[in-house]
Amino acid sequence: MFKKSLHQIDQKSHFKLYKRFPVTLERGSGSRVWDVDGKEYIDTFAGIAVNSLGHSHPKIVAAIQDQASKLIHISNFFTSGPQVKLSEKLTRLTGLDRSFFTNSGVEAIEGAFKLARKYGHSNGKSGNIISMEECFHGRTIGAIAAGKKKYQEGFEPMPEGYQQVPFNDSKALAGAMDETTIAVVIEPVQGEGGIRVAGKAFLKEARRLCDKFNALLIFDEIQCGMGRTGTLFAYEAYGVKPDVLTLAKALGSGVPIGAVLATEKAASVLDYGNHGTTFGGNPLATRAALTTLEVMEEENLVQRSAELGEWLMKELKKIAKDEESITDVRGKGLMIGVELAFPGAGVMESMLKKGIIINVASGNVIRLVPPFIISKVELTAVVLALKEAIQEEKRKRKK
Ligand code: PLP
Repeated sequence: MFKKSLHQIDQKSHFKLYKRFPVTLERGSGSRVWDVDGKEYIDTFAGIAVNSLGHSHPKIVAAIQDQASKLIHISNFFTSGPQVKLSEKLTRLTGLDRSFFTNSGVEAIEGAFKLARKYGHSNGKSGNIISMEECFHGRTIGAIAAGKKKYQEGFEPMPEGYQQVPFNDSKALAGAMDETTIAVVIEPVQGEGGIRVAGKAFLKEARRLCDKFNALLIFDEIQCGMGRTGTLFAYEAYGVKPDVLTLAKALGSGVPIGAVLATEKAASVLDYGNHGTTFGGNPLATRAALTTLEVMEEENLVQRSAELGEWLMKELKKIAKDEESITDVRGKGLMIGVELAFPGAGVMESMLKKGIIINVASGNVIRLVPPFIISKVELTAVVLALKEAIQEEKRKRKK
């Protein structure tokens, strides 16, 4: 009785910020979750591209339990084994030199922006951070200043020092940059913006321009990193290396953790006391992240993301062929967008009724970011249900 009214209690007690579905989830295993009434769902949303290993992976559960029994938190005034090992591992995997750990994606972005400003000042300049139209970097004041106008409304004044150019527009980027520019920030695959993939030529030009003007190239891989696009880091597929990389979401398999990685040249402008965090990179979160990377290696999950993603894309393109209300299918690896000719909220609701969790980005793009361990059988059920749900929604709209 009490459990059934949790949703109503939430509507009154929590800030009115999320239009939640009237579903209270209780447990998960692999690519499935169950609500308090025992209804089962296939989860293609993975908590916004976080649960790449699936829900409650036994090795993650065991690592968290073990670490919790030893040491959860110590502050960054002391060194801890899991943090050092994670730092060593991520710098080795990225080829970047230094790391800083945070509690969330946006805190990693804030760290990267502060680093960019300090780098600018150290080089005698205080110009703009250039971001891309339709980008999303989080919800703090600094991050919304770089983001869409829509998210800035009501929160003005915005800090100065930000400028936007159209995504994938090399000419516009070249036109916007000069010696004063301090950084360019790009999601190699935009997530909230509707699964938009950066072109190779664009990222290469961004690299060239940053080198020319001694600006930092920041890749925000908070959503598209950690194997999501079929390579461990999305930039690997482009052959373009950033000066600064931000990670979060899937990094800790749901235990909150983000990271900023940077070259020595960039990171060296920060000195003791310039930046910090209480919780960021504590033993529990870094142990979860270390174990996440271990499991991804052991289970060959990055390759699985690439292969399964390619297969899913083909299946979706097949249904798109006969369905004129699907206007595009795009993405990379297991980060796929199905663009509709109408808003996707109705499709999302009817999928939920069918026992499948999907998500909509940018109003009309079905965003599929399932756990990497999801099976082809499950994905086939998702594709079939999606086709049906789109047809149902089309009929509703014609009435
Ligand atoms: N950057 C990107 C690309 C994101 O997708 C997100 C979240 O969706 C963020 C930053 C912000 O991360 P968080 O919600 O953990 O603060």
